Amino acid sequence: MTLCKARIHSLESFSTQDGPGIRYLIFMQGCPARCMYCQNPDTWDRSGGTLVTADEVFEKIERCLPYLSSSNGGVTVSGGEPFLQPDFLVELFTLCRKNSIHTAIDTSAFYSKDTEAKKINKLLRLTDLFIVDIKSSSINLHKNITGRELEEPLSFIKKLEKKNSPYWVRYVLVPDLNDSDEDVDGLKTIMSNLKNCKKLEFLPYHTLGKHKWEHLGLKYPLENFRTATPEDMKKALDRFGRDYHGKI
Ligand code: SF4
Repeated sequence: MTLCKARIHSLESFSTQDGPGIRYLIFMQGCPARCMYCQNPDTWDRSGGTLVTADEVFEKIERCLPYLSSSNGGVTVSGGEPFLQPDFLVELFTLCRKNSIHTAIDTSAFYSKDTEAKKINKLLRLTDLFIVDIKSSSINLHKNITGRELEEPLSFIKKLEKKNSPYWVRYVLVPDLNDSDEDVDGLKTIMSNLKNCKKLEFLPYHTLGKHKWEHLGLKYPLENFRTATPEDMKKALDRFGRDYHGKI
């Protein structure tokens, strides 16, 4: 029986975007960042969402096991910032491990002031894959975009390297915000020192979450920015180079 309750925003039983195979997605409630292009500002409020136990969520995951297993998929926890509620994740991933279900956490690693390192280390042992979001390779721009320090995801990545834990890196490309040659070169410099990154994903910026800002009465910060086109993506990839040892 699991004990702690966590606040979750929502569950999605079928995703092919957030880890290998078909994924069961859990969106956690609460985030300490305020990213300019956040698609889920309705996850920010730490007192919102629905309280659940790991047992309750695992029961729902179990119903999806036939297609999760046959696709070599599993469970991905996203958010919000998953690291704000590590006790729940430890309980849920312990259940997953016992049942041989692959686990992933999609995080921006904004946890340094919010979560004890001991708990994060426990999670490292229970998580099969981390997907780490880097919002900019520039210290100042990262702070502007997220309100948090670039050092946070970078020091988490260092930890993953040290522990030999597999991870992917994700970068949302926003035209005229974080797609300049300097930004892409900066990312390349960061990535060139990483041995254990299995994949780098460039994702095109879109505005699908904009209506949520409006619904919450918030001003959308990227009002005058356009979505990323295939040409924008190609330009960044060409600049980055396709010789990266991880899979782009
Ligand atoms: S870390 Fe994720 S959930 Fe939090 S504000 Fe940024 S994009 Fe939104």
